Amino acid sequence: MDHNAVTFVATCDLAGQVRGRAMPSDDQAGVLRTGTGWVPANLAISSFGAIAPGHVFGSTGDLRLVPDPATGVDIPADGNRPGMRLYLADQTLPDGEPWPCCPRTFLRHALEELRERTGLEVTASVEHEFMLGGLPRSHPFALQRLRDAEPFGSDLVRLLGQAGLEPENWLPEFGDGQFEITVRPSDALTAADRAVLLRELVRDLARRRGLPVTFAPIPDPAGVGNGVHIHLSLRDAAGRPVLHDPARRGGLSALGARFSAGILRHARALTAWTAPSPVSFLRLTPDRWSTGGVFLAERNREALLRICPTSRIGGGDPATQFNLEYRAADATANPWLVLAVLVRAGLEGLTRGYDEPVVWPEDTKESDLAEVAALPRSLEEALAALETDDIVRSWFDPRLLATQLSVKRYELAQLEGLDHEARARKVSDVY
Ligand code: GLU
Ligand code: MG
Repeated sequence: MDHNAVTFVATCDLAGQVRGRAMPSDDQAGVLRTGTGWVPANLAISSFGAIAPGHVFGSTGDLRLVPDPATGVDIPADGNRPGMRLYLADQTLPDGEPWPCCPRTFLRHALEELRERTGLEVTASVEHEFMLGGLPRSHPFALQRLRDAEPFGSDLVRLLGQAGLEPENWLPEFGDGQFEITVRPSDALTAADRAVLLRELVRDLARRRGLPVTFAPIPDPAGVGNGVHIHLSLRDAAGRPVLHDPARRGGLSALGARFSAGILRHARALTAWTAPSPVSFLRLTPDRWSTGGVFLAERNREALLRICPTSRIGGGDPATQFNLEYRAADATANPWLVLAVLVRAGLEGLTRGYDEPVVWPEDTKESDLAEVAALPRSLEEALAALETDDIVRSWFDPRLLATQLSVKRYELAQLEGLDHEARARKVSDVY
């Protein structure tokens, strides 16, 4: 008999929301075997609750949410809040066939295709920034802020550890009330699962401690943004890291440059999946250390793709540490889809022979970057870029693509007439 009375089986949708169903934990073994019911139209629920009008699924159809046993975490009892068990699920058709619109399935298929066509495996890690309200004002990176957030911080690190998320760093960030939490690298599906779980565990604990929390990309347009940075590396079938070549610019191997070329080439359309809220593009502007343009650079925090530093301290091996960081994502995006579109774009780069990208060196001046391509300036522009990028469109079931476009346009419509501050507040309240 499980000590948790209730088990929740969840998916994460296009609004980045975790939704699902609970059942008695006594029935857990059965649910793991057969899944529980779900509805296709749920994919068209927008961030603000309402369902996008005119969506493609209508009122018919049925799915199963089939939990992946590997994702199970226990949220421990806390005060008078009982504990519960939580699983992430794949959405399948009633007969168990994969549903092509399921974001998690879409990532699994992207990873399988990369493996089949290149023999490569993706290692990833997702860094999250978020803000806690109700703390005294404090300085960037200050010990005082970390202490002011206690016991939340220590409890969070312990909780993530118990849940198997392998927390790595917990730090006071630059902005007021801002923190960052990082977890260890893992295979890409696990990394995306961890991102889905981490946000829920942080929100749940913060609410229980009476701390307002938001992962919104930019809670106040005049303030600092919350990024979600995706670290990626590749290994060959024998498990050897393949992104590093010390003889080449930035230490990036020829294979790594080709993979990067795909992400850079399709970047404008990718942002429609990685930064998909009505205010995401207020964050993606120069001088915010988010992403100042579509470029690949050595250790530059304004790059879309940053070549991260490596270190030999303590016997470290640069080849195993070497990774690329995609900086134009935020927590309004679905982590499975973010990882998937980066992998798909990288695969296009590996297989289509795009030109080698420029690797901007560490001493590049801002003025030198004037020539680099700009990101979309708004979600409207990103959605238009997605609609005109035939290669990116071709990755998706037409219903998934149409639902993303209609949900995101509906979210824009729901905030129409509001100024930047009011839009940022609305988004912040949801995330
Ligand atoms: N807050 C920045 C962002 O919006 C990232 C700062 C950093 O950790 O480099 O992405
Ligand atoms: Mg940071």
